[in-house]
Amino acid sequence: MKILCVLYDDPKDGMPTSYPVRNLPELEKYPDGMTLPTPKAIDFNPGELLGCVSGELGLRKFLEERGHRLVVTADKDGENSEADKELVDADVVISQPFWPYYLTRKLMEKAPKLKMAITAGIGSDHVDLQAAMDHKVDVVEVTYCNSISVSEHVIMMILALVRDYHNQHRIVNQGGWHIADAVKRSFDIEGMHIGTVAAGRIGWSVLRKLKPFDVHLHYFDRHRLPEEKEKELNLTFHDSVESLVKVCDVVNISCPLHPETEDLFNDELISKMKPGAYIVNTARGKICNREAIARALESGQLSGYAGDVWFPQPAPNDHVWRTMPNHGMTPHTSGTTLSAQARYAAGTREILECFFDEQPIRDQYLIVKDGELAGMGAHSYSKGSVTEGSEEAAKYKK
Ligand code: NAD
Repeated sequence: MKILCVLYDDPKDGMPTSYPVRNLPELEKYPDGMTLPTPKAIDFNPGELLGCVSGELGLRKFLEERGHRLVVTADKDGENSEADKELVDADVVISQPFWPYYLTRKLMEKAPKLKMAITAGIGSDHVDLQAAMDHKVDVVEVTYCNSISVSEHVIMMILALVRDYHNQHRIVNQGGWHIADAVKRSFDIEGMHIGTVAAGRIGWSVLRKLKPFDVHLHYFDRHRLPEEKEKELNLTFHDSVESLVKVCDVVNISCPLHPETEDLFNDELISKMKPGAYIVNTARGKICNREAIARALESGQLSGYAGDVWFPQPAPNDHVWRTMPNHGMTPHTSGTTLSAQARYAAGTREILECFFDEQPIRDQYLIVKDGELAGMGAHSYSKGSVTEGSEEAAKYKK
């Protein structure tokens, strides 16, 4: 079979020859007891860079020994990209949300042999899920592989925004020491009301990590948590996103992108937020309206916005989120720490082993199966497509 793998570019100065952390901590299980990926073997060293082109997710030896062909490229956007050319006779396509290969309906229709799209990570909105259902292309992702990685990034971003870390760091880098300038937008989070839109794996972990900060915790989710979990963290449940944003000083977004959540944070919803609130979004860029966020930061309706997700990706060089005031954006990195890469590389291999050996793929990994939303897809997504507009990614110039 032919496996097309679309990964981000190697580091500009080549692959690292050493890494700051020598040995990754060994984790037994995910927090809810789910086992980490269980491939029969791995051919990489956990903690090394695997998510870029030369890293190949550690898959080449395994695939070639089984007689398959692996094609790896980072060239994914614009007419005649390498990925588009290779897709036409591919059986499986692997892509990561950090450098998403937007598998639109048009592309899927040019790939008659395509059987499965694997997301090496979590969040399969870069695949037109409706088209996948219509064309019986299965879609799977490595559920839980980087949920905790992302929740750590969220905590970092909440503190960085509210305490105004970026401004203070810049003052030091510029050789300055003006404390009044450094603290004129700096607050404690203690006592604040902090809410999360979705309390799934990431959202729950964010809430749990925030608990010791003595804040008031809120959540909204289409699936309400069991009473004992609400009690454990003293959570206030909201039955609508409007109700949550009205009372929160900080709003975290951790729901998947699908037609129900696309453009959720638009001018109208932002106008219902507490004036001067902060948003952290590590879910997907398209959940927030690009211009509405920039406008709200300009007007002061929002005090800060941080996240690592954009639409499209890579973000065009003139994307307004690069230059709007009081932002704490990073490229899409939270779920691709070297720690996370080891898990999603192993998870991708587990999925491929099951697929080749005609063994069932874990239910938790399924998004679309046999033309229907299945597994986590049925729990967390809705029908329809959200890939429209992704062509703009070709505007990014290295
Ligand atoms: P999860 O499936 O455990 O949780 C998703 C939660 O969203 C579920 O509880 C679900 O009920 C809820 N939800 C779905 N639609 C909703 C709606 N319309 N309104 C309210 N709640 C809704 O997934 P997770 O591991 O927590 O990941 C969540 C999302 O975070 C992913 O789908 C992905 O988009 C994003 N993510 C980003 C990164 C990153 O690197 N930035 C990494 C992993 C995941």
